[in-house]
Amino acid sequence: MHHFHYDQAGILCAEGVPLPDIAREVGTPVYVYAAATLRRHYRVFQDALDGLDSLIAYSLKANPNLSVLRLLADLGAGADVVSGGELDRALRAGIPGERIVFSGVGKTEGEIGEAVAADILQFNVESVAELEVINRVACEANRSAPIAFRVNPDVTAGGHEKIATGHRHTKFGVPIARSRELYARAREMPGIVVTGIDVHIGSQILDVAPFRTAFRAVAELAGDLRADGHDIRIIDVGGGIGVPYGDQPGLPLGTYADAVRDTLGMETRLVFEPGRLIVGNAGMLVSSVLYMKEDSERRFVILDAAMNDLLRPTLYGAHHQPFAVTKPGARASQHPCDLVGPVCESGDVFAEDALMPLLAPGDLVAFSTAGAYGAVMASEYNSRPLVPEVMVSGDRFGIIRRRPTREESLSLEVPFDAEPDTADCSP
Ligand SMILES: *Cc1c(COP(=O)(O)O)cnc(C)c1O
Repeated sequence: MHHFHYDQAGILCAEGVPLPDIAREVGTPVYVYAAATLRRHYRVFQDALDGLDSLIAYSLKANPNLSVLRLLADLGAGADVVSGGELDRALRAGIPGERIVFSGVGKTEGEIGEAVAADILQFNVESVAELEVINRVACEANRSAPIAFRVNPDVTAGGHEKIATGHRHTKFGVPIARSRELYARAREMPGIVVTGIDVHIGSQILDVAPFRTAFRAVAELAGDLRADGHDIRIIDVGGGIGVPYGDQPGLPLGTYADAVRDTLGMETRLVFEPGRLIVGNAGMLVSSVLYMKEDSERRFVILDAAMNDLLRPTLYGAHHQPFAVTKPGARASQHPCDLVGPVCESGDVFAEDALMPLLAPGDLVAFSTAGAYGAVMASEYNSRPLVPEVMVSGDRFGIIRRRPTREESLSLEVPFDAEPDTADCSP
């Protein structure tokens, strides 16, 4: 459920704010998030986990805007971070170290040091080489670092090949079959304390079966490790819960929570790392129509939003349902059209053969389910400014990241004078 709806005049609103009001004040393209949806998704998930000893460690990489983080921190959320930058954001938003887990295959020594200093809940370790660095950094700081291995259960799941992480051909995790031996090594290290097991099999997973398979394997491993004498206190089950995009339904949370209860039981502390589930449907990308371009075969709607603002359609073939911000009358005819951006790439396409009312330059088009992996993946490709973000709450809105000025975009560049060109260009 979300809080984007048409009002009685047929204007698409975020909570109580008509999207054209935001477009007028902030310009387009712009991301708009509904605070009520963020809160609702967090609470609905929390309710589904009722009775479990759970920590919801929001996966920052889906949307790390500080205002989003502060809102979730106020609800009691923890954080799953994958870099020093994300760790810094989580701490700044008021998420305490004891609610932060650190994931990722390439943690640098500096990042590990920051996380040790922040006294985080758990490092989710992806290789022995990384474990050795964590041990050394922790010893140098006179601390012991709590760790879990991210185990790879070799299941295939996820909405797209590029977001499937749980089969053995990916770079992620350690093979579950080898993990007992790795835990035994970890136990010998003075800077390491074994606290848990971690698994994350992919993203946008709509079928509960691969979750069940992975969780069952983790439960079995937990039993083995406890028999080996390890104190497994935390099982981190990762994220990956699929959400609705367009007509495609999401994974029912009750079904997911039952899979957790059936396989992992109620005794261990469980960490969940949802990203998309919390923020996906809380955001829309609002754009303006620049031009209509028609030939005998296709009708193109050229928007001022592009792949640099929302990369998912180009990167994953993802579908973000487009909506005309001003709803046409019930009997207005729909026309198939291709919604495209201005970037000089033929992959800069949001939707092909989308049924839309007749649009004209200046009309607004909003793409749904853009709150996760949207703004955070934006770039300045084609020297387009980074897309701004707005949060709505009730009938108010605030710009939570503004559009940079040209000067700001250029400000990191430093002129460098190459050696004089001495090539003899005379004919
Ligand atoms: C990306 C990621 C998540 C969040 O995935 P969602 O599909 O957004 O829920 C959680 N944990 C890890 C380790 C990740 O890489």
